[in-house]
Amino acid sequence: MNAKALMKETNVPEAALPDVPGGLMYEENLLWEKERSDHPGIDFEKPRGLKFRTGQPARGDIGLPQVSEPQVVRHFVRLSTWNYSIDHGFFPLGSCTMKHNPRLNEKVARLPGFAAIHPLQPESTVQGALGLMHELQTILGELSGLPGVCLAPAAGAHGELAGIMTIRRALEAKGQGHRKIMLVPDSAHGTNPATAAMCGYTLRVISTKETGRMTVKDFKVALGDGAGIAGMMVTNPNTCGLFETDILEISDLLHKAGGYFYGDGANFNALVGKARPGDLGVDVMHINLHKTFSTPHGGGGPGSGPICVTEELAPYMPVPVVEKQGNAYRLAYEDSRPETLGRLKGFHGQFGMHVRALAYILSHGADGLKQVAEDAVLSANYILAQLKNDYHVPFAGPCMHECLLTDKIQKEAGVTTLDVAKTLCEYGIHPMTVYFPLVVPGAMLIEPTETESKDSIDRFISVMKQIAADVRAGDVQKFHSFPKDTPRQRLDEVTAAREPRLRWKKT
Ligand SMILES: *Cc1c(COP(=O)(O)O)cnc(C)c1O
Repeated sequence: MNAKALMKETNVPEAALPDVPGGLMYEENLLWEKERSDHPGIDFEKPRGLKFRTGQPARGDIGLPQVSEPQVVRHFVRLSTWNYSIDHGFFPLGSCTMKHNPRLNEKVARLPGFAAIHPLQPESTVQGALGLMHELQTILGELSGLPGVCLAPAAGAHGELAGIMTIRRALEAKGQGHRKIMLVPDSAHGTNPATAAMCGYTLRVISTKETGRMTVKDFKVALGDGAGIAGMMVTNPNTCGLFETDILEISDLLHKAGGYFYGDGANFNALVGKARPGDLGVDVMHINLHKTFSTPHGGGGPGSGPICVTEELAPYMPVPVVEKQGNAYRLAYEDSRPETLGRLKGFHGQFGMHVRALAYILSHGADGLKQVAEDAVLSANYILAQLKNDYHVPFAGPCMHECLLTDKIQKEAGVTTLDVAKTLCEYGIHPMTVYFPLVVPGAMLIEPTETESKDSIDRFISVMKQIAADVRAGDVQKFHSFPKDTPRQRLDEVTAAREPRLRWKKT
């Protein structure tokens, strides 16, 4: 029972019980709304009869809420419990690879030798840390088949920026700076076209509507005579969860036309240890350490998106890069890498993520990483096989690490993808990615990852089957009012987006 329902039952006026629990689920007001003028908290009364002798301006009221320390602590702790995370439960958000973050990584990252060093320390005192970064560079180079590695970018999107700037730099160095067209499939993650546009490229879309994949035919249509083509940005497996089967022929045609192949590595979880993007013709890729290599997903904190490039492109990529000379490691900057595009980030990237990713890689080993990809693909195909008779499957399987369904069948009864997602919230399961990729109407993109137990996947499947069965039985009205048992129910999403309330004003 939620707080409001409880209040109604006990007939308590709402104002009298600002913190009333309902099944231990608290309504959480802003701290300012909790304050009561007769309870001084932070601001002391103004001192009387005091003269400033140092000439400093008198301090005014800074308006902090007048609440006690326990109120502040409880406020933030309660808010923190509202933050659904992979440590709470199943989180099948397609394209995001929400997998378990092993605690071993956390333990290693907290070792004082890693956690208590400072980026301005002399290199001679942080040789171990630089050695760790060098090892991570080497391993990512090996796994991607692209030996030039820069760990600096702080997220996948930042890696894309680094990678496309590397391509732009290389084209300019070759006197090909006039090439200004970037090819992007219509199913691309939004960061791809955004990155290309930010780097001054015009987009040309490769259609994949028919099969969910790029075909040589559709690629040739986009390529035209090849004039002005700077490159192509593609994720493989793509955002429909499908392997791009024509990729070798396509990358060959692209290279012949003088373009570079940017491989969006966000879906590397499906390939790691099994196939090397460099062997598929990729010239540059980013790797989301917070996806494939299980470092925590930002959430406002640090992500990490190293880039891996071919030997040819390595001189142009950002600095710093850790280099080994004899037995010593050093950070190489512009002085020794004159063709670099420069620095994109303060210091040398999110070092704590480098530690976690290397801990993850070494604890799995080569065979373990391969099994990661195999099990991720197995989990997604298991879901696809279980749900394919209940939901519409736009592109026939098998899929890679994520599976794609739509609401086509349910929509006839008035139940949409949004309703399915909200119903999952009611059942305590985080929804899948909805309405993405944009080219598939009513898309539901489900990525279970290899770290989920069969039990938790089965629970998800049974809830999804129940929803489909209720829709078939005509029991549909309830779906429009879910979720009921969450602190917030259906939001007015249009008003929230158009007229967001971002400031609080004292009334
Ligand atoms: C997650 C993702 C990105 C962006 O990565 P961030 O680390 O979130 O910036 C880019 N492309 C694809 C396909 C993704 O799934």
